[in-house]
Amino acid sequence: ATLGELEARLTGCRACPRLVAWREEVAEVRRAAFQDQEYWARPVPGFGPADASVAVVGLAPAAHGGNRTGRMFTGDDAGDFLFTALHTVGLASRPGSGHAGDGLSLRGVRLTSPVHCAPPANKPTPGERDTCRAWLAAELDLLSPGLRVVVALGGFGWQALLPVLADAGWDLPRPRPVFGHGAHVLLPATVRRQELRLLGAYHPSRRNTFTGRLTLPMLVGVLREAAALAGL
Ligand code: SF4
Repeated sequence: ATLGELEARLTGCRACPRLVAWREEVAEVRRAAFQDQEYWARPVPGFGPADASVAVVGLAPAAHGGNRTGRMFTGDDAGDFLFTALHTVGLASRPGSGHAGDGLSLRGVRLTSPVHCAPPANKPTPGERDTCRAWLAAELDLLSPGLRVVVALGGFGWQALLPVLADAGWDLPRPRPVFGHGAHVLLPATVRRQELRLLGAYHPSRRNTFTGRLTLPMLVGVLREAAALAGL
């Protein structure tokens, strides 16, 4: 399979009834600012090149962000913050996340999430996270020949990633590495997989960026480290 084939299958997924209902309901009601727009209202695939050496793993698409634009981490404040940081490091073609069809591109980085449909209150259930895990596993598997670094944005992404990486053939340290901003874990090469670095950064949610818990230099710092480790 290719990433394109995986995306085509993913966008037809209806495995989580609560999320299917929510992603479609918000698309019907819409937010006042987007009344004239068609919402994507389906699972949002990862965004970025198939030969990416860095994967950035968030939480889930936002109801009026990725669920509207159909593009991961775009169309909301969190996306604008992330793309501004990526642009600062030279990995995005411009700051700000824009909308589908605007020519925005990434270099060496693939943005994805452990849950591909917008959840109510941005909170997927553990069951929904586990149901969606197979899609993340398949995406990382397709990226894995060139993958050098995975950046988890937030504790949810970190927790979702650990079992995926273990199932994929990496040996995780024991005790399990704990999430934190600036966390850095080396996963040594195994028979099946090459060396991989797992980095942690706070999620650029409004709650974190508006309170100053996550500043732009903090996110730039982690992304710069990821780029250097991946030789970008
Ligand atoms: Fe399918 Fe994942 Fe969406 Fe659930 S969250 S419906 S598993 S794409």
